[in-house]
Amino acid sequence: MSRRRPTLKLRALYASRRARATSLADGPGYLYAFVDHGRYWKLGMTSNFERRKAQWDNECPCAHRRWLLPIRVTRRRRAESLGHLLLEIVSIDRPKRYCPHCRRTHIEIFIFRGHWNWTWRIVIRPLLLRVAVETLSRLDSNAHTDVSRHPDASDNIDIQMLDLSEVQTFGCLDLSDVQTFGCLDLSDV
Ligand SMILES: [Zn+2]
Repeated sequence: MSRRRPTLKLRALYASRRARATSLADGPGYLYAFVDHGRYWKLGMTSNFERRKAQWDNECPCAHRRWLLPIRVTRRRRAESLGHLLLEIVSIDRPKRYCPHCRRTHIEIFIFRGHWNWTWRIVIRPLLLRVAVETLSRLDSNAHTDVSRHPDASDNIDIQMLDLSEVQTFGCLDLSDVQTFGCLDLSDV
């Protein structure tokens, strides 16, 4: 039985978390993703990607792990929270998995149909880019991170390369469009 929650519930959670005030503990960093055995996807956030990656590989060594390119975000905690919900919506399962490498049970693991390479390019990466855009400084009084003033903003090539007219469309997509959206190839954006 799949542990993925119903889409309606996930959409409601997404809307409420998106509207929630930004935590003062939040700040810039990265969304990272890796896949073990081409099947078990993990999404996390960190302020220091190389350190976090080394920590994972040390504490949970898996010879069949593939790391994907991290995506810079301005509010990493919110981005991770929203990213987990979007991944769950398009996943086929979110199992708790006993891990033979570290002998712990991992949570927030996602399983998708299809080859990992396709899943990354066509499904996960576009969703994470969407989250990166949605968690940019918003025109609300809660935002304490202004990306235009953030010294690292210029590093965020993924976001900067998006044309602003695209960002509008991007940000206004309803979750019911996630499937369609997932088929967009953003590599040319
Ligand atoms: Zn493990």
